[in-house]
Amino acid sequence: MTLAELQALESERVIGSYARQPVEFVRGEGALLWDAEGNEYLDFLCGISVTSLGHCHPRIVAAVREQAGLLMHTSNLFYTEPAMRLAERLSRSSLGGKVFFCNSGTEANEAALKLARKAKRGGDVVVVQGAFHGRTYGSLSATPQESKQAPFAPLVPGFHAVAPEPEALAAAVTERTAAVLLEPIQGESGVHVLSEELLAAAREACDRHGAALIFDEIQTGMGRTGTLWAYERCGVVPDAMTVAKALGGGLPIGALITGERLADVFEPGDHGSTFAGGPLVARAALAALELTDDAQLLERVQLLGAELAESLQGLPHVVEVRGRGLMLACRLDVPAPQVVTRALLEQRLVLNATGPDTLRLLPPLTLSDEQARDGLARLAGALAG
Ligand code: PLP
Repeated sequence: MTLAELQALESERVIGSYARQPVEFVRGEGALLWDAEGNEYLDFLCGISVTSLGHCHPRIVAAVREQAGLLMHTSNLFYTEPAMRLAERLSRSSLGGKVFFCNSGTEANEAALKLARKAKRGGDVVVVQGAFHGRTYGSLSATPQESKQAPFAPLVPGFHAVAPEPEALAAAVTERTAAVLLEPIQGESGVHVLSEELLAAAREACDRHGAALIFDEIQTGMGRTGTLWAYERCGVVPDAMTVAKALGGGLPIGALITGERLADVFEPGDHGSTFAGGPLVARAALAALELTDDAQLLERVQLLGAELAESLQGLPHVVEVRGRGLMLACRLDVPAPQVVTRALLEQRLVLNATGPDTLRLLPPLTLSDEQARDGLARLAGALAG
């Protein structure tokens, strides 16, 4: 099918909830993508931080191929080894408690919200302005953005948004608070790193009032910021965290991971999902986690991220660079969506805009030095117009 035929089909038959770029990708390998006409692109977006080990990593492909020929689905009425092993691996690499699997980021946050409310019945949830936690009703209620919430009111009650300031957050947490939910680095609103003071204030307020501190590591997790989990560099350990995106190495999976305190809040029947933690995606995630939990790779993400951030500062029209590791954003003095389109169609560089003046870069953690230089040159070309 031609691109024009795909576009015609879309406008006739696909609910119009996405604004797609006029490109059809057909193949990917590492940091590279190819369109239907054979043009090669450099991917600095990774399907929004999903294919963080590059496209079609051979170890993930091999795991999926093998598992697809053995067993793909049984439901959670039975045991399968990949899910149990993945839960053990995830817990051991992070908070040391227990894991609930689901199929996406928003579902991981739904599970976290239900868990927190069960732990403290009827309790409220404090979130931070600028947060993005997903699009289902609980997660949307935790996403204080007028344009995303307003058309879908009424939302779930009991959510309070505060400014990202320690005093405001501390004042909002009371005996009625079940949870504080936050992204240590806010991704969708443009890669805003929350301050250590804010995170420490959240920890202290939660401890004082018996509330759960929950980190949404859906975008920051799986090595993106240069440690396996972003909380490792925040000076604060949450009571639970949610992960998704890169966890499945390109396949859809989400997880809620608890520390010891919240490990046994859910009982049989409290929560569930037909597909969650199926053997196929769990095998992919085990491979992705083993590849990512690698000191050398993570150190390289920190180094390369710092180098990229410095080089980005020197590009024309870049007025600010934000982020950590390979989760970076540039504020521009020209319209970012136009730069994204020029980068894609003229420079064959894939990235995205999180707003009218902000570009986001989420390149693969496996990016080579040469690819990093190449990406910068292409971005400079797109910025030059
Ligand atoms: N939380 C964060 C921090 C995210 O970045 C996203 C997606 O961008 C979500 C939650 C929602 O994840 P999903 O789109 O898999 O439901």
